[in-house]
Amino acid sequence: MKHHSLILCSALLVILAPGLAAQQLDQLKKEAVEETDKLQTLTQQMVDEIFSFAELGFQEYETSRYVTGILEKNGFKVEKGAAGLATAWVASYGSGKPVIAMITDIDCIPRASQKPGVAYHDPIVAGAPGHGEGHNSGMAVNVTAALVLKKLMAEHHLSGTIRLIPGVAEELVATKAFYVRAGVFKDVDLVLGAHVESEFSTSYGIGKGNWSGLVSVQYFFHGRAAHAAESPWDGRSALDAVELMDTGWNFHREHLRLAQRSHRVIINGGDQPNVVPSEAAVWYYFRELDYPRIRSLYDEGNAMAESAAKMTGTTVDHKLVGSAWAPFFNKVIAEVQQKNIEAVGMPKWNEADQTLAKALQKEIGAKVDGLKDSVTPLTEPTKAPTGGGSDDVGDISWNVPMVYLMYPANIPNLPGHAWPDAVAMATPIAHKGSTAGAKVQAMTALDFLLRPELVTQAWDYFRDVQTKDVHYESFLTPSDQPAAELNREKMERFAPQLKKFYYDPTRYKTYLDQLGITYPTVRANP
Ligand SMILES: [Zn+2]
Repeated sequence: MKHHSLILCSALLVILAPGLAAQQLDQLKKEAVEETDKLQTLTQQMVDEIFSFAELGFQEYETSRYVTGILEKNGFKVEKGAAGLATAWVASYGSGKPVIAMITDIDCIPRASQKPGVAYHDPIVAGAPGHGEGHNSGMAVNVTAALVLKKLMAEHHLSGTIRLIPGVAEELVATKAFYVRAGVFKDVDLVLGAHVESEFSTSYGIGKGNWSGLVSVQYFFHGRAAHAAESPWDGRSALDAVELMDTGWNFHREHLRLAQRSHRVIINGGDQPNVVPSEAAVWYYFRELDYPRIRSLYDEGNAMAESAAKMTGTTVDHKLVGSAWAPFFNKVIAEVQQKNIEAVGMPKWNEADQTLAKALQKEIGAKVDGLKDSVTPLTEPTKAPTGGGSDDVGDISWNVPMVYLMYPANIPNLPGHAWPDAVAMATPIAHKGSTAGAKVQAMTALDFLLRPELVTQAWDYFRDVQTKDVHYESFLTPSDQPAAELNREKMERFAPQLKKFYYDPTRYKTYLDQLGITYPTVRANP
């Protein structure tokens, strides 16, 4: 009965007294902050547990089992195998509109294994994958926020649906275009993405312009084997083709725009020198700012591969293993989110946190300025984009109004995609930063649950500004399939060693405790 009168009250308040409705929203946000604080232990456990799994893209089996287990236990409906991906899923709670999806990545980086809280290179398992980007903290942010929202939505009878989706194989930029193709976002009203950072910020439009889109393509050359000393004239070297393609592309760079970025690794260079390599393969990322320019780099790469095949009497085929549009974020949601970032503020770093940050910055020769102490203001998008890294959330952002919350769970001035970026990621820095991020995710969702006019405004911006002249077109052809076999062998090789170090929260308060690491551990004379 009490609840019924509350709903009626809320409805009347919205119609009759916007001032009082705003008060109710403020009250709910206050409760969201309190409830998030109550979940700090769970948040810490999720950060630490996923850190200890250290799973590469497409192989996030333990992580997905663990996270969906928590969600199912808490009454979320979980559909596994989203878009045909074994480690993907969609979890939901609630009913009706608006449908708010929260997405965040779960995969890690090759060779980035690192003991947390230690300010120099000291792997947990040498050569093994590790969370050298900090994706282990994202689910701690989104799951915590979702649990808080569930509680508030039930207590206050709020209509709406919360959906959680994992960013599988984000480091390979290899799944979100498939999610879009599979219709995962077709009834979603807005997407609140979350990504680890050293700052607390959000952005709209192209933001600082340091995003690129890309295609990730593997070229497989096929030649003819022969004894490399006795009858090399009978052979046709697939490796020669790889090298000629690379040489051709490196000359081609001179004639490309400054905003392009392209890089490659040779994934198969043959077996042994006395056998002319009949098979060789090279893997390219071609990055540019927009669809037509990425498309033309892709076409030029394909032409270069064909030419190298012709020069060497080999043949070539290629496989698209990833693609992404450069992200474009929604101004209406970003402005709402920024207010919540400012209300939550930076985590309270202590002496130990700053000591670790500064010692690591010194260790790697970066600027030594410790952890950030203020949130980043929301700024107008740049007019001079330079391009940079990519994220396959780009494809989502061109299909649904979306923002990307950057929450402060890592140390500034690190190289990215490497062991230093893992140092803070199972320490109080990541724990506090994830709690701060969860508060903003929950508060921003509440804004849109309680003020449906904001959803309409977000879509107006999406339709009238963002997609007025630019229309989304996927890089995928109907025959392209997720490259789900990637990383399988590597993960199978390391999983037995990593398993010995999986975090056990029933025995240890934190992962640092389990590993017996004094926080922080820095060089004697840093
Ligand atoms: Zn990332």
